[in-house]
Amino acid sequence: MSNSAIRLLEQAAKRWPERIYVEEEEGSLSYGGMLERARAIGTALLGDRRPVVVYLPKSIDALSVFFGAMCAGRPYAPVDAHIPMARLEKIVESLRPAYVVTNEALLPNLEGVQLGDTRAVLLSELEGTQADGPAVEAAISAVIDTDPIYVMYTSGSTGTPKGVTIPHRGILDYADWVVNTFAFDESTVMANQAPFYFDNSTFDIYGTLKCGGRLLLTPETLFLFPLKLPEYLEEHQVTSIFWVPTVMINVANAGALEGHPLPRLKNVAFCGEVMPNTQLNVWRKALPHCSYANLYGPTEITDVCCYYKVDRPFENHEPLPIGKACENMRVHILTDEGKEAAPGETGELCVLGSGVALGYWNNPEQTAKAFCLNPLSPAFPERMYRTGDLAQWGEDGLIRFLGRKDSQIKLKGNRIELGEIEAGAMCIPGVENACAIFDAPAERIVLFVEGGQGMTLRKLNLQLKQYIPQYMLPGKLVCMDKLPHTANDKIDRVRLRATLTEENPSC
Ligand code: AMP
Repeated sequence: MSNSAIRLLEQAAKRWPERIYVEEEEGSLSYGGMLERARAIGTALLGDRRPVVVYLPKSIDALSVFFGAMCAGRPYAPVDAHIPMARLEKIVESLRPAYVVTNEALLPNLEGVQLGDTRAVLLSELEGTQADGPAVEAAISAVIDTDPIYVMYTSGSTGTPKGVTIPHRGILDYADWVVNTFAFDESTVMANQAPFYFDNSTFDIYGTLKCGGRLLLTPETLFLFPLKLPEYLEEHQVTSIFWVPTVMINVANAGALEGHPLPRLKNVAFCGEVMPNTQLNVWRKALPHCSYANLYGPTEITDVCCYYKVDRPFENHEPLPIGKACENMRVHILTDEGKEAAPGETGELCVLGSGVALGYWNNPEQTAKAFCLNPLSPAFPERMYRTGDLAQWGEDGLIRFLGRKDSQIKLKGNRIELGEIEAGAMCIPGVENACAIFDAPAERIVLFVEGGQGMTLRKLNLQLKQYIPQYMLPGKLVCMDKLPHTANDKIDRVRLRATLTEENPSC
């Protein structure tokens, strides 16, 4: 019986001690080496069950701390190495972690950050510890599969990020699903794109771990140069990729696949936003030997709950299905009346199964809103996650994604609550009110501001960067004396949206 996901690493280290698990530009680490390192780090982290924030760039180091935290029976919480300190402070305030583990380069950023009783500690300090095997085993054995493995922060509409708390069982079952669905084995070489603070990375980390494959931490800068990506895949003999559609689109639009037949590449999977057929068809034409899969899922269900293996060509206008539920999950499309939607009827996609999160860390209000009981199960209570996504069953039994019910958006694969941008803007002196609108055709966020005398987009973003991540920054600013209001005194978003098509005086 395996309760903690660290058992996956133990099994892999026993079976393939010398085999390379993870590789980055600076070096690599075997399965055996990773377990040894994790046990030493875990020994240094032994204590209570409070989480460990991992404030490190994507690296073998960061991964070692994830496994180290598991060896200590603690959940880990990965954060972006570029996270604004005000955002980190909010996370620390809500998470109350025992440690923030970081490195020498990032440590100075923590100066002045209110950490309360959380200790900032260098990874190099933890590594000096001699592993205490029995103590680590006792900490691991005390973990049950419904205990949290990690807390991943997503954008929150109130301005405070939400800590999605995933149980070990979610990852154990997900790793099984990944390996079975894509027939991964020891020859699998996976080129990772997703940041570690983004749920898609769990496909790569735990999928390769389960099958004894090799995880390549592809340099983040390469994704800025799509023409170089096929060369990288060729050079490293990559067999599988799981990338956000934005990256796949960039590669297709740059014509990067031309002259790169990539015979070793077998699986091309994508998730996180709508994949347009135009660019998917470019991939399919250039690499007809690959299999393609559209994966769907929010962070709250351990990455993926629906999938569709593309089995026929799609015309540009046809929506690409998100398919059917993964084998360890179940989905319903519920109408406003709480009934299963008939084929062709629109409803909210709701998810049940072992991957469903335990809730949002230390946030009962948001948890109660999103995680509820399945109204279709009157005989016994079943926990269900309401995704906020609109969807339909097709006559073919496959699900089509139709967009959002609320103001959550996806921009270049990043999940953004427009409310978080507004809350950040309201912290800036001179801003009396703010409303963020997504201009989808222009692929940018427009921020309407009341007040903001003499403000320019550049000046605004310089300040806004202190509160929200770079990828959330608006691409256009419109200053107004007064934001328009509806009859019941809410900001009139419909009117503001309508102005996007008109000529607008931007600052
Ligand atoms: P995240 O929590 O960052 O993984 O974002 C989850 C959201 O991304 C979902 O609720 C959807 O709105 C969107 N999403 C994920 N996968 C897909 C997909 N294959 N097609 C369309 N939208 C998707």
